[in-house]
Amino acid sequence: MIQGGMIMVRFLIGRGHDGPARIGQIEIGSIKLKSPLIMGPSSIKPDIVSAVKDKMEYETPSIISLGSIFSKTNSFNEEEINSNLFLLPSLPSASFLKDSDITAVLELQLAALVEVNPPNAIVRIPSSISTMLLEEYVKKFHEQGVSGAIFTFNGDYGRNDLNNILLKTKLPRNWLILSTGKILPATVPLLFYLGFDIIDAGLGEAAAAESIRLWSLSFEKIDSKDTPRFCACSACHNHDDLSLLSQSQLEEVLRAHNSIVYRSVLSECVSSMKQGKLRWLVESFTHAGPSLTGLLRQVDNQSYDFLEEFTPTTGKSVLPLIGPESYNSPAVRRYREYLADRYKPPETKKIVLLLPCSARKPYSDSKSHKRFSNIIESAIGSKNRAIAETILTSPLGVVPRELERGFPLANYDIPVTGFWDAEETQIASDLLVNHMKKFDESTVIIAHVSGGYLDIVKNAEPNISQSIIYTTGDESASSRNSLDNLRETLTDVTQVLDIKGGRPTSLEDTLRATADFQFGPGAGALLIPPDAKVGGKVYGTIICRLDKEQLCAFIGSTGHISLTLAGAQRIAELQRYWVRFEGDTVKGSTLFAIGINDADDAIRPGDEVIILDLKDNIIAVGRSEMSGREMCDFDNGRAVSIRHKVG
Ligand SMILES: [Zn+2]
Repeated sequence: MIQGGMIMVRFLIGRGHDGPARIGQIEIGSIKLKSPLIMGPSSIKPDIVSAVKDKMEYETPSIISLGSIFSKTNSFNEEEINSNLFLLPSLPSASFLKDSDITAVLELQLAALVEVNPPNAIVRIPSSISTMLLEEYVKKFHEQGVSGAIFTFNGDYGRNDLNNILLKTKLPRNWLILSTGKILPATVPLLFYLGFDIIDAGLGEAAAAESIRLWSLSFEKIDSKDTPRFCACSACHNHDDLSLLSQSQLEEVLRAHNSIVYRSVLSECVSSMKQGKLRWLVESFTHAGPSLTGLLRQVDNQSYDFLEEFTPTTGKSVLPLIGPESYNSPAVRRYREYLADRYKPPETKKIVLLLPCSARKPYSDSKSHKRFSNIIESAIGSKNRAIAETILTSPLGVVPRELERGFPLANYDIPVTGFWDAEETQIASDLLVNHMKKFDESTVIIAHVSGGYLDIVKNAEPNISQSIIYTTGDESASSRNSLDNLRETLTDVTQVLDIKGGRPTSLEDTLRATADFQFGPGAGALLIPPDAKVGGKVYGTIICRLDKEQLCAFIGSTGHISLTLAGAQRIAELQRYWVRFEGDTVKGSTLFAIGINDADDAIRPGDEVIILDLKDNIIAVGRSEMSGREMCDFDNGRAVSIRHKVG
């Protein structure tokens, strides 16, 4: 084995964390490259050159394919070995592999490691390999010092491509991941989102040779019979009509244009990630074709755990949910699962009031919800503490009023038309059925909803044990008649149920529900005990103190609870959201992953976390910047932003 130079792949994961996508730094010998990168033949001027040659002529590092049939004729000098990446050899017919061939391919690659420096080697992963065999060989390669893998896409978004993606999710997070094969520009956002660091744009060159101009969502064959399409890119801008060019000129222009399209899409990905909108971009691009849309649905369905682990739990940017691709996006599905697993209604609630969502978020700030709130106030005054206001919305389903300021509830943006498709209606009514199981059977439901919202309730009704009173007739929930009806119904029902007024509970309700949501069941009761003093405004900040000591604060603008050290002490017994720091004292305002080898693997980017020392003492609290598993696996990068620390 040749020792010497090394490749270091460093992933800098900061606040831009948005799904498994990442921005990194790849160090090959003395050259540092920022990932994500576009790979391709030298003629398209990529970030990193893919070369099949056995000698390199380029100044930038190349990705060299060791020939199909590995032989000693591949001989590189030491400098070449250390300053390039090497794709380990494959069998000539690697796309039609039987089980025994898969093992042979992997063994061939293991054997080839003697010719290269293992840290510079990239393993080819056959798309038909089983997860078990993959894990066995990843271990073998890892032991040899390999930490890079490449997957070959055939571009039909079918079984092969889906397998590649599912296999990729099983690889260590600190490996460098490459994709090659037929990759159209429209596929780039999905691959980047999934954590591919180097993306092959070689298809752009092949397309150019066939007079094909690629666009971000489509492509065209240059033909003199068609009206010339306008492009202002540096390659096309001097040529109003490409069909007038000679074949060789055309090919050159198209090569450059196609390469620009890949770059432009990838740069949009990076910028969307920094704004927390990468998922939206991925969904938008999958509309390039039904098979790509289908692929994303399969990926969402089959690798939810992987996607969810890297999806932040807090954020300030607007989250556009534009269609069916959003129904099961990780942030949306996680909300529904947390609601089912973590939400517990406050004990004072005797009536569930179902309301429609509003375009404006949080809903309380909308005109319609202000109107609802005035009606409740004027009809029953302080008896409103018995009302569980519950908002129906797509694709999140059911939102208790106490949680409306949290993420992604205060951030999502959907077209509010009142029309719901069958899938949306089913998702929401299933959630409503489960939600109502958390309330006593004597609870009365007042359904102040119409249109699609009414369909949800009607659809759920056969499976709900509580009685439901409808207040809108055929009119909208905001009509004069509907509102009068709501007022009368509230008055009647509170009388029939003999509900008494009392001290308002909305501050405690919001704090406890948010605490349960963030830290899991039981956290609300521990963090906001009955004898705590709670003060503030739901719209601003709510502070909870016990014996004059602050335990936590709810920040209305983020819907998020931040802990004090005393608050962390109160919920420590739950043994959740902890990070073990190997040092004695936390210095500065950042905890880096290098000091962490153990953390709760339920931690997601954006979570409020508790820092423990090796003796289980609480030494700090803060906000996580990466997932719990990443904190343990990475030895660089910002893991936690510290809020409070001991001393
Ligand atoms: Zn162009």
